Amino acid sequence: MDEGDFLSLSDTQAMIRDTVREFAQKEVSKVASAADEEGKFPIELFRRMAELSLTGIPVPTEYEGIGADTLSLTLAIEELAKVCPSTALTLAAHTSLGTLPIVQFGTEEQKRKWVPPLARGDYAGSLCLTEANIGSDVSGAQVTAVRKGDDWIVNGTKMYVTNASFGGSMLVNCATDRDAPKSKRLTMLIVPNDAPGVQVVKEEDKLGMRASATCVVSFENVRVPGENVLKEVGAGMEIAMNTLNGGRIGISALALGIAEGARDRAVAHALQRHQFGKAIAEFQAIQFMLADMERDIEAGRLLITHAAKLKEAGRPYAREASIAKLHCGEMSVRVCRDAIQILGGNGFMQEYQVERLYRDAKLCEIGEGTNEVQRIVISRHLLGKM
Ligand SMILES: Cc1cc2nc3c(=O)[nH]c(=O)nc-3n(C[C@H](O)[C@H](O)[C@H](O)COP(=O)(O)OP(=O)(O)OC[C@H]3O[C@@H](n4cnc5c(N)ncnc54)[C@H](O)[C@@H]3O)c2cc1C
Repeated sequence: MDEGDFLSLSDTQAMIRDTVREFAQKEVSKVASAADEEGKFPIELFRRMAELSLTGIPVPTEYEGIGADTLSLTLAIEELAKVCPSTALTLAAHTSLGTLPIVQFGTEEQKRKWVPPLARGDYAGSLCLTEANIGSDVSGAQVTAVRKGDDWIVNGTKMYVTNASFGGSMLVNCATDRDAPKSKRLTMLIVPNDAPGVQVVKEEDKLGMRASATCVVSFENVRVPGENVLKEVGAGMEIAMNTLNGGRIGISALALGIAEGARDRAVAHALQRHQFGKAIAEFQAIQFMLADMERDIEAGRLLITHAAKLKEAGRPYAREASIAKLHCGEMSVRVCRDAIQILGGNGFMQEYQVERLYRDAKLCEIGEGTNEVQRIVISRHLLGKM
């Protein structure tokens, strides 16, 4: 059964999935391995995603997006991840982290100014939370913004900023009042990448997601007008938490796509590879690994759909997004590991691409909240602390 029937996709959702599937299979797959090896995102893929309107999938039409829903975005990310998880991460970070917070928290003026270029894909958007000493506990940001007249002066360095090297705007969480309670210490500023004093210091060389741009960005006396404060002074923590909840649905879809890519390669190999006079797919040991993959993938799809539908309905979804992310991250690594096992020595080789998926899958257990952080969120809900 096709996923479309199973999920009862709307016409728009099915159209987006099919468009992205064709783009991924025909264009992205050709460059995925080379981009991984080179450790560089092929910028022409971002331009193509812009031409296909993928950069504006979840953005309302009045801000030049296509106004599709959360599930549509997950379908696009999933299709890309089947062949090139780095490209899927690029789109997920651009939309969920760099664009949607402005749609959700921006004033009308901010939305009119900053969202259309992101939705059109004139450039990429980024979110800057992480620093050298700041990761899971976002509240302790050491990048500062100090008020000077109507402006803010930003100083410090953010780490692991996805997309910054070809970006146009960044959402930068800054400490504006260290003495305030944790929830009010930070302020989110919209900072153009070409503001004087902003510098992409380097792109990281990585285990996986090698073609996704992961950047260190420094801010030296960067002057940001007061009108670029997102929501209000002191709302940085609230915006960050909200954004990560939504982003976790996207990372779940990324993990799901990776797992499906690995499963498809494992099935194909199991059917054509013969040992001891028969296809290895006839061995129960192989069948059981494939069955476990299928169970894991199916559960992941349901968890993502559930979280996406709750978000779309405007209902609380933090718990469901964390459950989806935890399950999908772990299952993606597991499925890739088993796929390599089914491919045997071939699975270990670059040529067969499953090793790339395995390396990429690991990010899904770390980015936008580690597995441990997801367990904290889930258990807090369970124990009534949220
Ligand atoms: C490829 C990539 C892209 C990224 N893109 C971005 C981006 O665009 N923007 C951005 O801001 N960041 C980005 N990040 C950063 C990412 O969000 C962080 O790496 C992640 O949140 C974990 O933070 P950390 O690395 O500082 O780990 P730490 O927080 O230092 O955690 C280290 C270990 O301690 C565990 N731990 C921490 N606290 C607890 C606790 N309370 N209980 C139990 N265990 C705990 C963690 O689970 C982990 O196992 C990216 C990271 C990568 C690898």
